[in-house]
Amino acid sequence: MNFQGKRVLITGGSRGIGKACAQAFAERGAKVAINYLHNAEAAKETQATLKGGPHILVQADVSNPALIEGMIVETVKGLGGLDIVVNNAGISQVHPIDKVSYEEWQDTWQLILSVNLVAPANVIYWASQFMRANGGGRIVNVSSRGAFRGEPEMPAYGASKAGLNAMTQSLAQKLATENIYLGVVAPGFVETDMAASKLSGPQGDFIRNQSPLGRVAQPEEVAYAVIFLAAEESRFSTGTIIDVNGASYLRG
Ligand code: NAP
Repeated sequence: MNFQGKRVLITGGSRGIGKACAQAFAERGAKVAINYLHNAEAAKETQATLKGGPHILVQADVSNPALIEGMIVETVKGLGGLDIVVNNAGISQVHPIDKVSYEEWQDTWQLILSVNLVAPANVIYWASQFMRANGGGRIVNVSSRGAFRGEPEMPAYGASKAGLNAMTQSLAQKLATENIYLGVVAPGFVETDMAASKLSGPQGDFIRNQSPLGRVAQPEEVAYAVIFLAAEESRFSTGTIIDVNGASYLRG
């Protein structure tokens, strides 16, 4: 897959899956805008690993609706355009219904939905304005196996990712005639900071053995599915959800 000259924005591109995506696109000739939240050091380190360029850093809290238009404008200015967006930034938080207070329950739903679902909706809103006026583009959203398998200890997370899947498919139908194509990558556990405490804890082996491969995914394996959906040749896969979970959960 060749991304020579393509301009790519990756939310949460500084660490984990987003970092692997940034590297995969840059290796194939793309110019990358790395969005991050607080950790400027990690963002700079990731930028320094990228081949080619120039690549830029775009700091913004994607859960703040007021910052999204500015993030897209900064990316277009910095890269000279925008061809591909990867909505990767996401958070998880345990909030069992039988243990948390009603206040914590409310706060967690608000927070998780704002980062994992409403933020991608807002990014797509502004990115698609630009893409529509400039011949089209590609949008790939990073969801989760939890959307299908259930997340009993973090239902807001499962719901946010199921919503992301449904939104992607609705907009794939809506935007295809504008030459804007969308897809989802739904990983199981991936070896990143987000999963680190679970993977190194008492549940670690149980989680790894959910897959017949006896391990979880590497971020690069998720990035490969992302670049597949972002490629010119994958146009007819619009609306697709690709599972990257090592056969740990097979949906019908
Ligand atoms: P990670 O290692 O925790 O990295 C998260 C990235 O998102 C960082 O770059 C972080 O920036 C950024 N970020 C977080 N909140 C943000 C916000 N409000 N605005 C802008 N950037 C923000 O995460 P990951 O494991 O790579 O996960 C990436 C995606 O994959 C998420 O959507 C996650 O739900 C999904 N996923 C992960 C797993 C897994 O096991 N890891 C499994 C299934 C799905 P800073 O560095 O500045 O904090």
